[in-house]
Amino acid sequence: MRKFTCPACGGEMFFGNLRCGSCDRELLYSPPVDDFVVDAVGCIHRTSVEACNWEAFDERRCLSCDRDVSQEPSALRAPFQEAKRRTFRQLLRAGVVILGADPELRFDMRTGTPEDPVTMGHADGVITIDIAEGEPAQREIVRTAMQEPYRTPLGHVRHELGHWYWQTSVGHAFGHEDFRAAFGDERASYPEALERHYAQEDDGSWKEGFVSHYAASHPWEDFAESFAHYFHISDTLETADAFLGIEIPEILEGFGETYVRWTRISSALNELNRSMGMSDPYPFAPREMAVAKIQFIHDSLPGSRA
Ligand SMILES: [Zn+2]
Ligand SMILES: [Zn+2]
Repeated sequence: MRKFTCPACGGEMFFGNLRCGSCDRELLYSPPVDDFVVDAVGCIHRTSVEACNWEAFDERRCLSCDRDVSQEPSALRAPFQEAKRRTFRQLLRAGVVILGADPELRFDMRTGTPEDPVTMGHADGVITIDIAEGEPAQREIVRTAMQEPYRTPLGHVRHELGHWYWQTSVGHAFGHEDFRAAFGDERASYPEALERHYAQEDDGSWKEGFVSHYAASHPWEDFAESFAHYFHISDTLETADAFLGIEIPEILEGFGETYVRWTRISSALNELNRSMGMSDPYPFAPREMAVAKIQFIHDSLPGSRA
């Protein structure tokens, strides 16, 4: 994330702020200019528990809230909304078309019941999110049960957007053949692949070619995981650049050198967290083949191809 300043007084602003901490003026984040503005119309969810600070693009909702199937705000949805706005900003900057995409992108965020559980996933443009995981204790229970090193609302949103991006880009940004050469043949049965994945013990053999154990289950999951990692990396590098003055080449200009810097930043990031008794924010160490897949995502983005 970049640094922001208040357009009225020059005070420091952060991406999620509703008002300036220095002059107390109400401000809105405007996605087209990637900056805070005054005197614009705010999204209707600004005053809800979701505290959306984006500018409305149609006098009512912002681009992010407009993509929701339900307009019923909730505290459990809030972390996912924050994650969605953060990732939408990245997609816009990378030249990815959100509005008017094929398939149309929608977010169905809800809670299930024991009889009717919600399964996180993507189907034909609709991303389903189980907002029960907006509660940290619940998320930790699932993370432990699934034996995952990392599970966050931001991770979910970036991963599911990866599925949507695959569908909207295959045949355009990259061909099926290029995809298969990098990730394998996606025509392999998806339900069978997942069944096999969950039946297997994790013996660590995936580490040679995949960014995570789950990525090894099916080429679609491999792509979605690589997509999430690309956006984790580019966001964190932008932040390191803005806040720590660590000069990092614009990620869209060249991936190779950027990635070398990422390995240094991510070890520092993990070690900083250990200094505070927290777990590693980036508990991954992708090897060459997995990094090549993250680069595939980079190379496929309109901003990289321009
Ligand atoms: Zn101010
Ligand atoms: Zn909004």
